[in-house]
Amino acid sequence: MTKNIITRFAPSPTGLLHVGNIRTALFNYLYAIKNNGKFILRIDDTDSERSTDEFAEQIVSDLKWLGIKIDKIYKQSERIDIYRKYFNQLVEKGFLYECFETQEELDYKRKRLVARRMPPVYDRASLNLSEEEKNHHISEGRKPYWRFKLSGKKNIFHDLVRGEVSVDTSAQSDPVVVREDGGFLYNLPSVIDDIEMGVTNIIRGEDHVTNSGIQIEMFTSLGKDSPVFGHHPLLVDENGDPFSKRNAALSVKGLKEKNFEPMAINSLNTSIGTSIEINSFQSLKEISEILDLSKLGRAPGRFSLDQLIKLNSSQLSILSFEEIKNRLENQNIIASKTLWEIVKNNLNYLSEYSKWDEIINKDIEVENLDYEFLKTASDVLPDEPWDNSTWNLWIDKIKVSTDRKGRDLFLPLRKAITGLDDGPELKELILLIGYDKIKKRLLGK
Ligand code: GLU
Repeated sequence: MTKNIITRFAPSPTGLLHVGNIRTALFNYLYAIKNNGKFILRIDDTDSERSTDEFAEQIVSDLKWLGIKIDKIYKQSERIDIYRKYFNQLVEKGFLYECFETQEELDYKRKRLVARRMPPVYDRASLNLSEEEKNHHISEGRKPYWRFKLSGKKNIFHDLVRGEVSVDTSAQSDPVVVREDGGFLYNLPSVIDDIEMGVTNIIRGEDHVTNSGIQIEMFTSLGKDSPVFGHHPLLVDENGDPFSKRNAALSVKGLKEKNFEPMAINSLNTSIGTSIEINSFQSLKEISEILDLSKLGRAPGRFSLDQLIKLNSSQLSILSFEEIKNRLENQNIIASKTLWEIVKNNLNYLSEYSKWDEIINKDIEVENLDYEFLKTASDVLPDEPWDNSTWNLWIDKIKVSTDRKGRDLFLPLRKAITGLDDGPELKELILLIGYDKIKKRLLGK
């Protein structure tokens, strides 16, 4: 029998989620639903100075908005007792050791190694301190901090994305697990949580490959097998720069405020840098069925806002009228099916629907029109009742009376009738605007 898959997304609530962060969330979620598994959100808020409840709440609401269903939410700050229990076990088993160097001493050691062109790996000076020496440090007012003793071996693991990966722990400093103020740092609580929560697959950015090499040893020290790892390439922006929590414009919150469709974001985010053709998908389920992490390219995925706008536009054209009707009603806009069918292929954002609603139903102001031409067009405007053939009938008449054709003919009409240079088919729009308003607009009244 195969194991029940459990994945997790573990952001620190120290800023807004950006498109790069949610790529990790999406890959974990998609992997879980593809395998009928579970998806956990773990809020990594052990850094009490930088973490806030507001950011944590925003993360939950961002994920929900994207359509990600969270099976369970944990907060690391509420789990410190659990970490202490495991910490004590590891101290007892001899995997952790106390250190007493100050930050200045560590910096000095590091600089000397770098000057000698040697890797700046911690020299384990504190590992062999006698009880007497430790007591001496303590009596001087120093507080111990704790490191995990690495094996110095090469840890080889099979990565869902990268295939075989090797992390040489001899090139790493023994990681600090507890600071001198008693606070836990990232690596150990993460491993403990992954054990306690039964996480089977850890999918995260490739900036965590070294951490995974280190964490494998922590799992072993606690008598557990490591979960399966997968490290995906990170996303970069159009200039090739990494995303940061400071870039609010490409945060999920920012994109939501700009009226992007969640499925446009999801579609782009999971297909850049993969074998999937960039496309508008209707549901996360649909993406989960075709996403294959082993086919992710190794190059960073480049996130383009223009591409997102295009996808947003095609996303709108595949939404059902019922769906948009409910959404518009929530904004006190009454949606018309006829208008929706006419404009749905011409919207970048759903918020533009009301612009067309106003163009059709309200007075518009347009300046600098070619009124001589428009007067002639108005003179030959067919009488109502109108139907699908009215537009062609009218255009033929204008052609006869003015000699105009192509852009010279259509653009001034479009401008006078809608106030804009482009938009949906006039043939259909005029039927909604009607004779009286069109006549007024042509005559500049
Ligand atoms: N809080 C860590 C981060 O955001 C979690 C990494 C992980 O284990 O997935 O980088």
